[in-house]
Amino acid sequence: MSYYSPSIEKLIQSFEKLPSIGNKTAARLAFYILNASEEETKEFVDSIVNAKRNLKYCSKCYNISDTDPCPICANPKRDQSEICVVEDVRDIIAMERTHEFKGVYHVLHGSISPMNGIGPDDIKIKELLSRLMDGQVKEVILATNPRVEGEATAMYLSKLIKPLGIKVSRIAHGIPVGGDLEYTDEITLTKALEGRREL
Ligand SMILES: [Zn+2]
Repeated sequence: MSYYSPSIEKLIQSFEKLPSIGNKTAARLAFYILNASEEETKEFVDSIVNAKRNLKYCSKCYNISDTDPCPICANPKRDQSEICVVEDVRDIIAMERTHEFKGVYHVLHGSISPMNGIGPDDIKIKELLSRLMDGQVKEVILATNPRVEGEATAMYLSKLIKPLGIKVSRIAHGIPVGGDLEYTDEITLTKALEGRREL
């Protein structure tokens, strides 16, 4: 049973639902909020509500953005003939930090994982293929994570895209197997992009 009053208990439970927040941290955050000023609390709550309300998927690349299309797709300096395919929105940030990639992105929002019941139709593959139909795209760079699921997804996409006469490459070298693009440093990621091999 809980020794906290119901309102505090509810707040702690809400924090506990966040990723990597255990019970102790949740309690610490809850008490931080209780001690914060009314104004601070309002700002915090508003930022969550506004983010949820304003952010949407870019209808071209499925990046999360305040605008549709997102700033990358809308930028006339970006090369629309080169699409870098990533699993997660955060992977775009990692790639952008390298300042090496001048094309546009496509976010799959996951990877094929039969073990977890995620098939090709559960991620944004159809949407990618429809982008390739207008004949503008010359190269697709597969930057899925170097894990079993990411590799399987890259192989699956390669088989679908190559018959369309589009160059397909896979970022390579430097990213540790089982690693995460998001946590890969810029130099390693730049090398991985430069060392991509055609599939
Ligand atoms: Zn976009």
